[in-house]
Amino acid sequence: KTRFLISAPDIAHLEQHLAEVSGIEIAFAGRSNAGKSSALNALTEQKSLARTSKTPGRTQLINVFAVDEWRRLVDLPGYGFAQVPQAMKIKWQQALAEYLQHRECLGGVVVLMDIRHPLKDLDRQMVEWSVASELPVLVLLTKADKLTQSARMKTVNDVRKALEELKGEVIVEPFSALKGTGKEKVLSILDNWCHP
Ligand code: GDP
Repeated sequence: KTRFLISAPDIAHLEQHLAEVSGIEIAFAGRSNAGKSSALNALTEQKSLARTSKTPGRTQLINVFAVDEWRRLVDLPGYGFAQVPQAMKIKWQQALAEYLQHRECLGGVVVLMDIRHPLKDLDRQMVEWSVASELPVLVLLTKADKLTQSARMKTVNDVRKALEELKGEVIVEPFSALKGTGKEKVLSILDNWCHP
């Protein structure tokens, strides 16, 4: 029953739009092309809630979806576009860090990474900022169907090990929007975040 609520060009506008609204938000972040839109569509069982395959470099909006009166999913713009000017990248990263640090209704952060290329610098940064803000993190290793079972488990274990040192509440799970792998587990983790 998830529906589109609002779009905002930046985090200040998002907070302004939702100033009167209470409840809990779960943020979705990831490099562009990580499979974030596909994951959002699969998790909400809607074909085109979040648009897939956007044009790289195009100005992107933060999209907010309402699951119900209390719970919202916040689709943050994909990061890591090579074409975006450095100054804009830095500005956006600062805004993102601020959102993670100061958004009081944030219940947790889902960081999506292509299972074939996990833990790039910005991915690690996102997890570190979230942990520093004492937010629980779910790292979704997407497109898990692209690897064999053994390669998949190896990557999951490697990423878990690499993030252990952060000593935060970090869960790492494989996910496939295509096959539905990991869907039930993800839904139950997100549900827990909404009922702490
Ligand atoms: P976004 O930019 O992070 O929103 O990524 P998209 O959801 O648009 O996906 C990027 C590309 O990866 C698209 O071509 C998708 O079809 C593909 N993709 C996404 N999820 C999966 C998956 O679970 N399995 C496979 N094989 N491809 C996927």
